[in-house]
Order: sequence, then C-alpha cells, then structure tokens
Amino acid sequence: MERTLILLKPDCLAGKHVGSVTARFEQAGFQICGVKMLRLSSEVLREHYAHLVDRPFYPDIVNFMQSTPVLGLILQGPDAVARIREMLGPTDSKKAAKGTIRGDFGTENMRNIAHASDSTANAEIEIIRFFKADEVFKW
Ligand code: ADP
Repeated sequence: MERTLILLKPDCLAGKHVGSVTARFEQAGFQICGVKMLRLSSEVLREHYAHLVDRPFYPDIVNFMQSTPVLGLILQGPDAVARIREMLGPTDSKKAAKGTIRGDFGTENMRNIAHASDSTANAEIEIIRFFKADEVFKW
C-alpha cells in the first residue's frame, strides 16, 4: 500500500476538471486520505520545484501555480505512485496519449492539470509539505 501527493493545478480548477480527474482516481480504486485547497507561497514552490529553480521558465511556473489556489489530495492504494504517474501521462500534455489525464485535459508543458509525486520517498516528503498531521486520515 502506498500514498501519493497530488496537486490539482490552476488549469484544472479553471477548466472545472476537478470532478472528472478525481473521479478517475476513485474509479481506479484509490482512496482519498486528505484534501485541501491551498495558496502556494513562493517559498513552498521553491522547495517543491527545487529541481527547476534555475530553469528559464521557473518564473512562469511560479506565476501559473500562484494564479489561483490549487487543490491538494493524498491518495492511497497499491502501487499508487507509479500507477498515478501513468494515469497522468508525460509532463508535456501535447505528448500525452488520449485516455491519460494530461492527454485529455491538459494543454501544454506547464499547464498539465496535476502534479503527482514521483517516488514513495518524495510522496512522504510532499505529504508533510502540504498537510498537517491531523489533516491526514488513515483507512
Ligand atoms: P512532472 O510534473 O511531470 O513531474 P517536472 O517535475 O519535470 O515534471 O516539472 C514540474 C512542472 O514544471 C511540470 O509539471 C510543468 O508544470 C512545469 N514544467 C516542466 N517542464 C517545463 C517546460 N519545459 N516548460 C514549462 N513548464 C515546464
């Protein structure tokens, strides 16, 4: 059993895809263990996207991720990290196959609907980054 951290990004909220995306996770059998709406500070974004801070497009990411609140979700299930990354598809929505979340709802590299943790170790770090202990529910 694994947990993973999802952020439904501003394009997901603006496009009113929250229900559709969350339904896919539930239909795939994942259990919601936490959910909250978040305004991401520049500090938390610098931590979360530490591997990208030196890239020329980093300021665009910050602007995008701060353009509206985002929705954080903790999902639990067998092999959750890899299976949910697979459900999302590759980073660039234009390269994502139809049937994947990014392929169906995303529009580009940056506006790609959702973040999902890329390893079980990062999932645990990211859950703590965005959720307080008493906001995480056990099943
Ligand atoms: P992923 O979210 O698929 O794990 P990364 O960790 O590489 O991908 O990138 C984090 C986020 O930064 C991406 O989801 C996307 O929103 C944005 N991003 C990544 N690469 C680019 C790029 N070349 N141009 C614009 N935005 C990008």
